[in-house]
Amino acid sequence: MQKEHHLHNKKVIIILLVFLGIVAVVAYSTYVNAGNMEKQIEQNLEDVAQQNALVLYTKIHEQHGLIQSLAKELEGVTPDTIEETLGRFEIFMEAFHLKRFAYCFPDGTTYSTDGDITDLSYREFYQQGMDGKNALTGVLSDALRQEHDQVNVMTVPVKEEDGSISGVFGLAYDTEAFNESMQIESFGGEGCSFAVNENGQLVMVTGNCDLVVSDNLFEVLLQGDVLNEPILSELQQRIEQGQVSSGVLYLSEQYYYYGVPVSMMDGDVSWYVLTMIPSTLFEARINEMKRNQYIMSILVVTFIVIGAVLIIMELLEQNKKMFRLAYEDAVTGGANYEKFCKDMENRAGRGGYLVSMEIMNFSNIAIASGKKAGNIMIRETWDMIEESLGSDELAGHVKNDKFLLFLTAEDDEQLKQRLEALTGRIGQKAGDFNVFGLRAVWGVYKMPGQEAVEVAYSKAWAAREYVPADRDFVCAFYNEADNRKMQREKELEERLPAALEQKEFEVWYQPKYSAKDCALVGSEALVRWRDRDGQLISPGSFIPLFEKNGMIMKVDEYMFRSVCVQQKQWMAEGRKVYPVSVNISRASLHYRDVVQRYREILQESGISPEYIQLEITETVVEGRRDVCELLNEFRDFGVKILMDDFGTGASSLATLSSQCFDTVKLDKSLVDHIGDKGGEIMLYHIVSMGQALGLHITAEGVEKETQVEFLRDLKCDDIQGFYFAKPMPAEEYEKMLQ
Ligand code: C2E
Ligand code: CA
Ligand code: CA
Repeated sequence: MQKEHHLHNKKVIIILLVFLGIVAVVAYSTYVNAGNMEKQIEQNLEDVAQQNALVLYTKIHEQHGLIQSLAKELEGVTPDTIEETLGRFEIFMEAFHLKRFAYCFPDGTTYSTDGDITDLSYREFYQQGMDGKNALTGVLSDALRQEHDQVNVMTVPVKEEDGSISGVFGLAYDTEAFNESMQIESFGGEGCSFAVNENGQLVMVTGNCDLVVSDNLFEVLLQGDVLNEPILSELQQRIEQGQVSSGVLYLSEQYYYYGVPVSMMDGDVSWYVLTMIPSTLFEARINEMKRNQYIMSILVVTFIVIGAVLIIMELLEQNKKMFRLAYEDAVTGGANYEKFCKDMENRAGRGGYLVSMEIMNFSNIAIASGKKAGNIMIRETWDMIEESLGSDELAGHVKNDKFLLFLTAEDDEQLKQRLEALTGRIGQKAGDFNVFGLRAVWGVYKMPGQEAVEVAYSKAWAAREYVPADRDFVCAFYNEADNRKMQREKELEERLPAALEQKEFEVWYQPKYSAKDCALVGSEALVRWRDRDGQLISPGSFIPLFEKNGMIMKVDEYMFRSVCVQQKQWMAEGRKVYPVSVNISRASLHYRDVVQRYREILQESGISPEYIQLEITETVVEGRRDVCELLNEFRDFGVKILMDDFGTGASSLATLSSQCFDTVKLDKSLVDHIGDKGGEIMLYHIVSMGQALGLHITAEGVEKETQVEFLRDLKCDDIQGFYFAKPMPAEEYEKMLQ
């Protein structure tokens, strides 16, 4: 669980890091994009400005070219011919949208296409023309018309062939019309372009701005944008000095400008074209870009958050599932053993009754109605247990038909009654399934507060094994002695294989005597387990145990082989050898090829089968044809079969006629009846019947002389018992063999 949490935290941290990383990337890209956008707009501004400058230059250049070529026609013109010559030029006025052409004679007398004659010698362009220079004026109010028209005048000197200047030729164009022809779309109509001359006068204005031609740029701009004074004065300086050589970007609070110098009229005229956009437009674009970026970021972050929440929910769900897997029982949906143990840890040292419950013959349900019905029964049982629990009591389903409970009660008796009641209800429920013979049994251990659950459970479990088979009993309380016995059995069980290997088992012999003359006629081999500390373990404490778990077959075979080998050895030593009967447990008969194996052992030893006999308890044979056949297989290869403990079974007399025995061994319990009339009559009839069936009769457990005499009178064949001899080690028995 601890480790789980760790993993969990790690995942959350990774998700957070990814989240932060993405936020950082988005923020950075917004920043970079804003920068790019700014550069892009700047570039755009520059492009538009350059284009505007080029358009202006082209227009002026066109007109300059026109008057230059027309000027050639004016060489040698005189006041008499001037009007006629100018008249020829009129067609160009329309084509070039010009207002008029005019020619100034060196004395300043000026003839225009309008037919006016004035003195314009005061005009600067006249002076410049006479000096051999081209000129382009700023915006002038029309001198020839008394109108408020605004014009620009462009002049070139008219040169004679010898290079002398004979006059000044020029044209006037309407400023407004010129401006209109200059319209350039820029920035969706929000930008504006204008040209200034060296005086800072606006000579051309297009686009969207409050500027008007003939205004002074610096004055106008300074009014609205005082903060930009340093920039403007620098611009002014450059323009005045004609130093402008390349585009410059000027950023002001309200506008972004891009200025491009335009040199025209063979370098005689320098204008400056400025293109500007309001900074609000610029910001609006950047803001829009930023907004998009933010929306993107928010979307991305939202997706990540949703993803993270889903992942975390999934993890939590998994955690829950794991908790369920760890602590919830799959069948009952209630606590499992782990949960029970965990809850027990929290009982704060309280003592109580730890109760292990098992449903005897539970498999009957599955056999009768299937596994599903079995699970339903388990669930019903669990519900009944859970219902019966007090607030400070606990229960858990261990597995299959096993439950574990922690209960409180005033005394053992009260608890017992409670458990009996539960068994009753569970039995009734099983009846609903039409399955009978089910019985809930309880092993109870009175548990002190501090004991570990596992230890206490093993004791409650052990107690349950001691519930009597009798239906009247449903619970057993843990008891140290019982437990020690069980522990001992477990220990013996574990020690058996090593004990066989290390020959801890010994063969003891109990002689048998002829009833007629008390001569030795044979013996019975009885097993003894010599413990490592030299103590003898009696067969009574391990034979029944090994019969239960099937290990007895190993012991029986060991005994059989040892006796065969021993007999062979005595024979080789030249002693007189008598038949020895070896016990074989009923459990050993269930093993495959048991006859075959015994035969092989016998043949390996090389002794004659007449010296080895087998003792088998009579209850084995009762009504069992197959066992009888098995015994006859032994007899077929010459081994005699003795029916052991005759008189302890129920249908003893019928067994006598089963025809698979050679000898009947009368049990000690029958022999003990000698002395009372009824018993003696019974013995008399058993012996007569056996004799009539041709059976050899041996009496066991004979301790008294009176018994010996009675048996001799009955013509019983052999006698075995403490009266003559107790079981003895081989060395001792050996002395009896001459
Ligand atoms: P069992 O086959 O009936 O053996 C006779 C038991 O009665 C022996 O007990 C013997 O010591 C005892 N006994 C003999 N004469 C008298 C007597 O006069 N008075 C009294 N009170 N007892 C007498 P043991 O040796 O303790 O053996 C107990 C049982 O263990 C045997 O009963 C037999 O069933 C089983 N057993 C012994 N050895 C083997 C073996 O190698 N294999 C198998 N499967 N069982 C064995
Ligand atoms: Ca026996
Ligand atoms: Ca016996």
